Amino acid sequence: MNLDIRWFLALVTASAIALSACGKDDPGVEQTAPSSAGPPQTEQRPLPPGSVTSNWLTHGRTYGEQRFSPLEQVNAGNVRKLGLDWFFDIPGDRGIEATPLVIDGVMYVTGSWSTVFALDAKTGERIWAYDPEVPRIWGRNACCDVVNRGVAAWDDKIYVGTIDGYLVALNAVDGSVAWRVNTIDRDKPYTITGAPRIIKGNVMIGNGGAEYGVRGYVSAYDAKTGKQTWRFYTVPGNPADGFENEAMEMAAATWTGEWWKVGGGGTVWDSMAYDAQLDLLYIGVGNGSPWNRQIRSPGGGDNLFVSSIVALKPDTGDYVWHYQTTPGETWDYTATQHIILADLEIGGRVRKVAMQAPKNGFFYVLDRETGELISAENYVPVSWASGIDAATGRPMETVNARYTDGPNLIVPGPDGGHNWHPMAFNPETGLVYFAVQEIPFLFATDEGFMYRPGQWNTGIDMLMADLPEDPLELAKAIGMVRGHLVAWDPVLQKEVWRYQHAGPGNGGVLATAGNLVFQGNIIGEFVAYTADDGDRLWAFPTQTGITAGPVTYAIDGEQYVSVAVGWGTATAMLGGPGVAPLQMKNRSRVLTFKLGASAQLPDLPDPVPVPLPDVPEQRASDNTVLEGHRVFAQRCMVCHGLGAVSGGIAPDLRYSDKQVYAEWDAIVLGGSLSSTGMPPFAGVITPQQSQAIKAYIIDRAHALLSSMD
Ligand code: CA
Repeated sequence: MNLDIRWFLALVTASAIALSACGKDDPGVEQTAPSSAGPPQTEQRPLPPGSVTSNWLTHGRTYGEQRFSPLEQVNAGNVRKLGLDWFFDIPGDRGIEATPLVIDGVMYVTGSWSTVFALDAKTGERIWAYDPEVPRIWGRNACCDVVNRGVAAWDDKIYVGTIDGYLVALNAVDGSVAWRVNTIDRDKPYTITGAPRIIKGNVMIGNGGAEYGVRGYVSAYDAKTGKQTWRFYTVPGNPADGFENEAMEMAAATWTGEWWKVGGGGTVWDSMAYDAQLDLLYIGVGNGSPWNRQIRSPGGGDNLFVSSIVALKPDTGDYVWHYQTTPGETWDYTATQHIILADLEIGGRVRKVAMQAPKNGFFYVLDRETGELISAENYVPVSWASGIDAATGRPMETVNARYTDGPNLIVPGPDGGHNWHPMAFNPETGLVYFAVQEIPFLFATDEGFMYRPGQWNTGIDMLMADLPEDPLELAKAIGMVRGHLVAWDPVLQKEVWRYQHAGPGNGGVLATAGNLVFQGNIIGEFVAYTADDGDRLWAFPTQTGITAGPVTYAIDGEQYVSVAVGWGTATAMLGGPGVAPLQMKNRSRVLTFKLGASAQLPDLPDPVPVPLPDVPEQRASDNTVLEGHRVFAQRCMVCHGLGAVSGGIAPDLRYSDKQVYAEWDAIVLGGSLSSTGMPPFAGVITPQQSQAIKAYIIDRAHALLSSMD
């Protein structure tokens, strides 16, 4: 198999992987209070005039999460004069997904391992830092890198969820811990990567873990005290234990078998939005756990509320309505993707809508008062369904979409046609902008599936996903892997323009009143496009890949544009040969730009020649290598990459030296390198499996050496 094929192979598999009033009546750059480390002022207390425009107060900028800024000092006419004003080195070398908040001169941003930094937003100078000191062993529970997507602010505190499941309130002035609560069952592999949201003094946080067998929920905590106010489960537990509420009883009727023993899934790991007028909180619910419904709910069923948008009352967590984008989800098609609220004129009347482009490839416009489907069209090639039935709101599935009659190459794959990368909606163009990707995946049932508590439990044959042997399937995959930035008209449900990227996995989007759209990409550029027609006007080389969503803010009459950069996340870790040619490294930073600025990033270090693999001569039997590959695909691949090829984050195991091979079991089973993020796998894999993985890596190293001949 040559290297070109490997490039595409990698991509055949995918990752496991009411401030809303500010608009045209709130224009321009306005003065704000002097830069200080003072307490953030949020909607609970009156804001100084103009600060709603000049700040970035909550994850999606407003409760409606439009990620549109009315600032227009930087615009399509002058963006070519945009230059780097300051940068801040974020400690760590893992993925960066954070949206910074900016409140009256102070920026609050998160790094990998749930660290938090308060910076002077005008200079980048560090004011304080907080490190929750997450035990590195918890990294074993993170499907898609130890990332964090940002903080929330309320009154005099800053809130962060940690990768090991705590919600922490920090004093905004100095970063000291005000309170810290555990949000999870500590015996289960839950994680938190999403940003909290805060409504009327309630801090809402969900969690991740649906690749590992957990039951999803979202919880609310009193912002002052940390006392839990409510919890809404997204999937039912064991009916014999009784139901938490009527919604769970309704949901249980859509499940079969003994799903509670395998978790059920439905984690709320990213999106939320709030309509203050309707007083409704919208949450995006993740995939089923295991992915494969034949295993999770063997008698079928829609499996509510997996892959749904659910509307709740924010004071109580009471269920109001739901819309399920993927009934009976069996492809890791989460509906945790960004939810944007807007008022759109459709069919001659103004509709209050919620919009989402979930992983399953369809762009949904829902009536956010009722949950009724207004329209849905595919924004990317889709093979699992031929469309969404407008009358029933349900997908029309294609033959063998559920791979019950054998393996099926399906697009989108588990990484989705669009993932968590934030979208943006510009009310002036009426367009939604987001990162689209085309990554097929060979779905096949894991015939030998056994539920293992706390471990990777997708019910999918990951070995087949790593190396599809059928040349026809491979050929189909080649040419299907792509990524682009799209401008989507949600009223007409059609693409208006696109910018083709080098590959999938590109960054979140910011839209501004300056007729601009900002987005970072995987090849290490931060780029401005015109919002109306997608002209690429300006680009800055960032020395590292970008996935996070940018923000903009103003201080002392000057507009700034800022983005957190840093190669990592699922694309880099799992992508393997698909991303290895980029030779991308993590350089975690905040980069902040303004007109006329001309700061420079430090020069890149000279590349260090990589020594050839120092690989033992002895080879194991083909059976042992195959067994090693099988275990690698289930346990190691999500971090060490498809085909054991590193995308630049975890070490490339094919380059292991003799010392690594000599200490193999101490590292793999005993966790002797756990301080670096490599957790111990004793109790997860057997000593015999550890040796089989070693045999597989030796085999891959020899293959690498042969390919260099
Ligand atoms: Ca998932």
